[in-house]
Amino acid sequence: MKHLILFGPPGSGKGTQAKQLEEKFEMVHISTGDLFRYEIGNETPLGLKAKSFIDAGELVPDEVTIGMLQNKVNMHPEAKGFIFDGFPRTIPQAEALDLFLEGRGECINGLIALKVDDEEIVQRLLERGKTSGRADDSNEAVIRNRIDVYKEQTSPVYDFYDEKNVSQEIEGVGSIEAIFERLSTAIEAL
Ligand code: AMP
Repeated sequence: MKHLILFGPPGSGKGTQAKQLEEKFEMVHISTGDLFRYEIGNETPLGLKAKSFIDAGELVPDEVTIGMLQNKVNMHPEAKGFIFDGFPRTIPQAEALDLFLEGRGECINGLIALKVDDEEIVQRLLERGKTSGRADDSNEAVIRNRIDVYKEQTSPVYDFYDEKNVSQEIEGVGSIEAIFERLSTAIEAL
C-alpha cells in the first residue's frame, strides 16, 4: 500500500494532476477541498460550518477537516493507496494523518510538492475563477490570503515530511503532460 501527498500552493495543479495519476496508478484520490465543496453544495451541517472559512480563504478548523478525511479513507477498504490532495495543510493535520495511518500499519511513502511562483498562481486562479464558479477563485484579495495561509500554516508540512526523508519538489510550470511525466517518474521511484 502506497500513500502519496500531492503538495503545493493553491492553483499549482494538484487537482488536475491527481485526477490523471489516480487512473494511472490505481490509487484513490482524496481532495479535502472537493469534499468541502460537496458538503456545501448539499447544505450539510459540515458544509455550513466550512463555508465562511473557505470563502475568506482561511483554513477550515483541523478537528472538522481531520474527521472528514478519516471518514473518507475508511469508505475505501479496497484502495491500493491514496493520493491526498490539499491535505494535510497544517502540522496537527500531518500528525493526525501519520497516527491514523500508523494504526493501519501504514505510512506516507512520499510527498511531492509542485513549485509555482506567486504571480503565476494569482493569474491562474483568476483565470480559473471565470469558469469554476468558486468565490475563493474570483477575488484577488482572497487569493493572496490563500497564498499567505499556505506559506504560514501549510509550508511547514513539507519540512515535517522532509525530516522523514520523503519530501521532494518538482517544477510545476510547463504543459500538463510534461508535469504529469515528472510526477509519474517520481511516483514510480517511491
Ligand atoms: P482547495 O480546493 O484544496 O484549494 O481548498 C479550498 C479551500 O477548502 C481552502 O482554501 C480551505 O479553506 C479549505 N480546505 C481544503 N482542504 C483543507 C485542509 N486540509 N484544511 C483546512 N482547510 C481546507
